[in-house]
Amino acid sequence: MEIDLHDYIATTPDFPEKGVMFRDINPLIGNGAAYRQAINQLIDFARPLHPDIIAGPEARGFVVGSPMAYQMGIGFVPARKYGKLPRKSVNAKYGLEYGHSELQMHVDAIQPGQRVFIVDDLLATGGTITATMNLVRQLGGIVVGTGFFIELEDLNGRENIMKIDNVPFKALLEY
Ligand code: IMP
Repeated sequence: MEIDLHDYIATTPDFPEKGVMFRDINPLIGNGAAYRQAINQLIDFARPLHPDIIAGPEARGFVVGSPMAYQMGIGFVPARKYGKLPRKSVNAKYGLEYGHSELQMHVDAIQPGQRVFIVDDLLATGGTITATMNLVRQLGGIVVGTGFFIELEDLNGRENIMKIDNVPFKALLEY
């Protein structure tokens, strides 16, 4: 029987600051059946796009992307926060509400022409995911699609992805 994944998202108003509705995926990933259903639904979307590799940003992108890659028998590339990777890397900066942040990937993480499916737990403004797309493209990878557990519709993340590339898009839940 299909689970309603909405039942496994905890909503906290005014976190981390006033006016923000924080959507917490911890109940979802803490429940075996809900987690498996969510991962399988994203795999069903990604598989026909024939990715060679999955990529996701630190930290919750790892929780989405790693089980997908394992189940599909392909690799996973982490986009790490600045300063964590030991070898030569490419960088992508992106704006936050206050200041900016930066993600990195090793230069040999993706081979030119590889098909890359990019995931994260949640899409808000799209800054994190478009920075991840930017890294993949710097390395010559082809972004074949993007997938999320949650899309916050009012923040225009999907439009910001499509400004870079009109890629197939999937969000399991919308708020
Ligand atoms: P964006 O870069 O504005 O699209 O924000 C998405 C990133 O911030 C993702 O990596 C999320 O993990 C995190 N994030 C933003 N808002 C929330 C939220 O309400 N719940 C959980 N994570 C969030």
